Amino acid sequence: MPSSTLQVYRLPALSDNYIFILVDGRQVAVVDAGDAGVVLDFLQTHNLALSMILNTHYDGDHVAGNRALLTAYPGIPVYGSAIDRGRIPGQTVFLNDGDRVEVGASIGHVLSVPGHRQGHIAYYFPESADLFCGDVIFSAGSGRVKDCTYGQMQESLAKLRSLPDNTKIWCAHEYTFDNLTFALTIDPDNLELKSRMVEVQKLRSALQPTIPTEMGFEKRTNPFLRWDSEAIRSRLGTVGDVETYTEVRSRKNKF
Ligand SMILES: [Zn+2]
Repeated sequence: MPSSTLQVYRLPALSDNYIFILVDGRQVAVVDAGDAGVVLDFLQTHNLALSMILNTHYDGDHVAGNRALLTAYPGIPVYGSAIDRGRIPGQTVFLNDGDRVEVGASIGHVLSVPGHRQGHIAYYFPESADLFCGDVIFSAGSGRVKDCTYGQMQESLAKLRSLPDNTKIWCAHEYTFDNLTFALTIDPDNLELKSRMVEVQKLRSALQPTIPTEMGFEKRTNPFLRWDSEAIRSRLGTVGDVETYTEVRSRKNKF
């Protein structure tokens, strides 16, 4: 059986987005091309040709580059949620929870994760433990709830939280410093959170990325994944998973 060798490249784009390029053998995918120019420059520099576009959801900073990439690479498939039909430019493949996508020999599992958007999906590659989760989980944070309920978002976060601890989280934004500033107001005695802040301050002052992060670490430090922490519940005065998540989300909205 051929084993997959998924290589991931992280391209900074727009003000604080990341676009990801996935390479396995001769196949090249882009995840959430918010800016085509960044992608085309990278492909040219590395002498690569694009095979497909994978979208997590339809927000402009995730799909704005689709049309220009289709002009450069006519006819390549554009993947997105079936729920986003008519919203993702150039979409040709309409995915549901449990579907599979192939990048060379690497198999990505499609996970439906509504909360930020109804049609938000994540792509999880179990063999290499890579997760592309758009705006659902960030390092020390989580995306805003837009056209969904808080309960839906908490359920989606629980679904992603159940992935293995060594899962690399390739989230779509560099929000880590601001997220940590907020997280420390929710969980001020968490020693790992405090040392992460020191590490991230060093990385960001050297203009280095803080992504990817790891699921096991996020489970211990990200307040949006810690609705069952007794320390957090007693600080917030909440009971129950959705109530605790909702209180954290509401406080972040006002932060
Ligand atoms: Zn976004």
